[in-house]
Amino acid sequence: MTDGTQERINLLGLAPAEMEAFAVGLGEKPFRGRQLLTWLYKRRVADFDGMTDLGKNLRARLADIADVRMPEIVSEHVSADGTRKWLLRAGRSDGRDQAIETVFIPEMGRGTLCISSQVGCALDCSFCSTGAQGFNRNLTTAEIVGQVWLANERLGVAPDGSRAITNIVLMGMGEPLANYKNVLPAMRIFLDDRCFDLSRRRVTLSTSGLVPQIYRLAEDINVALAVSLHAPNDELRNQLVPINRRHPIAELLEACWHYLDAQNGRSITFEYVMLDGVNDQPELARQLAGLLHGYDAKVNLIPFNPFPGSDFRRSKPDVISYFRDYLNGRGVTATVRRTRGDDIDAACGQLAGRVHDRTTVRLGSKMVTIGVEA
Ligand code: SAH
Ligand code: SF4
Repeated sequence: MTDGTQERINLLGLAPAEMEAFAVGLGEKPFRGRQLLTWLYKRRVADFDGMTDLGKNLRARLADIADVRMPEIVSEHVSADGTRKWLLRAGRSDGRDQAIETVFIPEMGRGTLCISSQVGCALDCSFCSTGAQGFNRNLTTAEIVGQVWLANERLGVAPDGSRAITNIVLMGMGEPLANYKNVLPAMRIFLDDRCFDLSRRRVTLSTSGLVPQIYRLAEDINVALAVSLHAPNDELRNQLVPINRRHPIAELLEACWHYLDAQNGRSITFEYVMLDGVNDQPELARQLAGLLHGYDAKVNLIPFNPFPGSDFRRSKPDVISYFRDYLNGRGVTATVRRTRGDDIDAACGQLAGRVHDRTTVRLGSKMVTIGVEA
């Protein structure tokens, strides 16, 4: 409570229906809420004074009780391949500064923003540096949406008016389905035509397999689903993705096929991190093809991204190619994810993984201390 802004309502946390309710709560008509959305997301105006069709009194009232607050940038890195990574401050806990990461990956004809949903993660997958950090807290809806707002602002609009961000993936830090109540309104904001207006195929939620929440998601919203499978049998998956002990593969796949049925979805992407000698043997490719053959499933093979303290190694390129070709040969579409932003540690599972090792980072011209006991 140092700057008096903490009690204000951060409007980035309000889904479209909530924004209308917020306007009504102020004694206004619901369409004032829609106007607010347009100012925020279409015109990208965060300052109430600039919202000229809102009326002086309402603007003064808003300035009193609300604000539009983005996460604070700790650092911004641009990779040689154009990938950008932002380290964002997410408060303090146990005497440590907490940070999350957001990554922008430009490709031909599209730009993907990879956002975080939690500070750390409780699910403790053995190959993931976010998991190794443990769980700190859920991000608020405003912090999830704020990552997109901020990236949009930093990336700007192209001369032809097009926006840099065409796709959003919830593949940064954290398990999005473990923060369901804050992630759902954020995704509504990504899809709504008064807000970011992305099609449902361009918003992807990646989960390690929280089965009850997959059923809930099928009821609540229509977005693309990616599932972190990483192993084709329970014995191995129990070790790599511990949540499998609670929700084994058969149960998980049933939830996935239900998700597709409920939504007329196109297909589910199964992520499979390639770990040398652990889950990359030909026999496992055979088992994986057996599980997915005949379903609307795609496999995305992710070369493991090593991080300090991890014992795993990345599979050899020819082993990854064999795995991919075998699956394709069995009629299961498989691709290998290109690693991007290697020079700035922007790859999967590395997000904010270095925060605790790093003692100081650059903030503008200042150096600030991050990840050190106070
Ligand atoms: N918690 C969600 C989303 C965040 S992780 C999930 O697990 O799906 C996003 C993806 O990165 C997941 O498929 C995850 O398994 C993968 N991943 C985690 N650590 C990795 C690493 N070190 N190398 C490659 N991929 C990794
Ligand atoms: Fe959490 Fe996903 Fe990392 Fe597993 S892979 S620890 S679920 S962030």
